[in-house]
Amino acid sequence: MSFSAVQAALSGLRSCQEDVGTNMDMLTYVAMDLVESHETEHSSSLETLQAMILESAELEREINCFSNIVEHLNSEVSQLPPEALFSLSDRVKEQYEAKRASLSKAELHNHQKVIAFKEGVGSALQPENGEEAENQDEDIAVTQRFVNFTCPLTQVEMENPMKNKVCNHHYDEGAILAMIKARHKQHKKFRCPVVGCGNINVIQADLVPDLFLKRRIQKRNASQV
Ligand SMILES: [Zn+2]
Repeated sequence: MSFSAVQAALSGLRSCQEDVGTNMDMLTYVAMDLVESHETEHSSSLETLQAMILESAELEREINCFSNIVEHLNSEVSQLPPEALFSLSDRVKEQYEAKRASLSKAELHNHQKVIAFKEGVGSALQPENGEEAENQDEDIAVTQRFVNFTCPLTQVEMENPMKNKVCNHHYDEGAILAMIKARHKQHKKFRCPVVGCGNINVIQADLVPDLFLKRRIQKRNASQV
């Protein structure tokens, strides 16, 4: 058996995993469109979309789990006695089944992209109630919009805004992940860079992609062209 074939299959699986992620973003966009269109019949469609995104989350999780197991075994393979190689696929199956059995459906609601879906649909509903307040204090709304579009780390407009679930601040994905990684290498915590924020430990697990904000930025830019 050739192990380069395993590597190729693995990278195929990883790109498949990415595609599932992209599809989940698309589902969220469709749901936000639906909410924005103010269709009275949309609640059952939203439920269907939510069921679809949960199904995708499960698929993504299974691909991830399977790939991790194969990757791990693949890294150990050189230390195994030759006779063990014949049972490799059985070991993968065994470990995969065990891991799968330990995963719960409820945990899917903690999937980053499922959270992004719920937040996208939830905040897409807000302008309806917030319209009046926005007119009353247009200046504040404008300032807030400006602040929200700019990454506190890069000082430029965000391309992929991530929201911190703990303090509700936004950062651009690339910048925040690089900062967290750099600080962790020094064994230090990373404090939220927003002035006055008391969150002294920003961790990746608290960050959720904010597709609603991303779309607002994209729409604003499209209207300025
Ligand atoms: Zn903060």
